[in-house]
Amino acid sequence: METKYDINNIFAKILRGEIPCDKIFENDFALAFYDINPLAPVHVLVIPKGEYISFDDFTTNASADEIIGFYQVVQTVAEKLDLLQNGYRIVSNIGKDACQEVPHYHQHILAGRNMGAVIS
Ligand code: 5GP
Repeated sequence: METKYDINNIFAKILRGEIPCDKIFENDFALAFYDINPLAPVHVLVIPKGEYISFDDFTTNASADEIIGFYQVVQTVAEKLDLLQNGYRIVSNIGKDACQEVPHYHQHILAGRNMGAVIS
C-alpha cells in the first residue's frame, strides 16, 4: 500500500478548488460532494480536509477531533439528503484488493434504492 500521500490526487485537487465538484456540505473537517460516476441514485463521497491516504492512515494518524468531525459530516449529509428513514450504505475501499482508485481517504454514501448484498 502507498505510504506517501500524493498531493496531486484528484480529491486533493478538488479540495484546492482546482477541479470542480457538486458540493453538498463542507466544514473545517470534511467536504461532501456527489460522485461523478454514481453507482446508486444517491452516491456521495465524503473526504477529510487533511492529507490521509486511506481509512487505515486516517484512523492511525488523524486527531480525535478530525476523526469525530469527519464522521459527524457523514451523518450530517445523511440527514441533509433525508436518508435516515430508508437507510443508506457507507463503504470505504482501502488499498489494492479493495480496488481503491483515489488515494485520499473517502467514505462512499450509497442510497436511494435497495442496495442488495454487500458484495454481488
Ligand atoms: P474508490 O474506488 O477510490 O473507492 O472510489 C473513487 C470514487 O471517486 C469513484 O466512485 C469515482 O467515480 C469517483 N471519482 C473519481 N474522480 C472523480 C472526480 O473528478 N469527481 C468526482 N466527483 N468523483 C470522482
